[in-house]
Amino acid sequence: MKKALTIAGFDPSGGAGLQADLRAFNAFGVYGLSVASALTAQSSRGVDRIMPVSGKFVRRQLAVLLSDIKPDAVKTGMLYNEENVETVAHIIRKYALKNIVIDPVILSSTGKSLSEKNLPAVVRKMLLPLCTVVTPNIYEASVLSGIHIKDKTDMEKAAKVLRDYGPENVIITGGHLEKMAMDLLYDDEFHYLKGKKAEGEYHGTGCVFSAAITALLAKGHSVLHAAGLAKRFMNRQFRKSFSAGGEMRLFNI
Ligand code: PLP
Repeated sequence: MKKALTIAGFDPSGGAGLQADLRAFNAFGVYGLSVASALTAQSSRGVDRIMPVSGKFVRRQLAVLLSDIKPDAVKTGMLYNEENVETVAHIIRKYALKNIVIDPVILSSTGKSLSEKNLPAVVRKMLLPLCTVVTPNIYEASVLSGIHIKDKTDMEKAAKVLRDYGPENVIITGGHLEKMAMDLLYDDEFHYLKGKKAEGEYHGTGCVFSAAITALLAKGHSVLHAAGLAKRFMNRQFRKSFSAGGEMRLFNI
């Protein structure tokens, strides 16, 4: 049985964070392990409050779990603060974890901050050098790279800047670009993953996409192949999504 670990936030609506990641792992037949780095009070209408889990307890959860079970791939989502980023970086090195996917969560779609101010700087310094893939959206890639992304050329520039921090692969998801939903994978070459832009607002898109890639890496796929399959998976999930009450649609994985 292949196993994937998510270190992410707890979302009671189940649309994002740990719960969404676990369902995505399951969709690919991969067993899901999960460690909570933050608790949130939220619904399909948005995020209300956040309670970060202490770095000490994140470390404890990871140490107890990893001394028993070794995951085939790991993803991080909402780490929230420096303490948790530092803890995760330490654990990745200590347990020599492989197939690391970093989803650098900064802000929710509804505009609520999901991180402390210095998070982009600490993610750049501590996590990017250790990861197999980083999966920022346009906004996150702009903040992390310092390049305000408006088009395809800016995406390429930002991907180059981010890859210089050390990740083997950079995937900038382009769902928030005006006309197209084109993702860019940069692994020393540019690869474009094209898709139809999904109309409407969706909760947890970045979480589910990066979790799908994580599950596929756990199963032994290359990053390029995993990214293509994850994109197709997302296209299906947009079609199957449903409205639970708020403006944002939830994925029925
Ligand atoms: N809550 C948690 C725990 C998350 O990890 C994320 C995104 O990564 C969100 C909320 C926000 O999700 P979205 O911006 O897709 O609504």
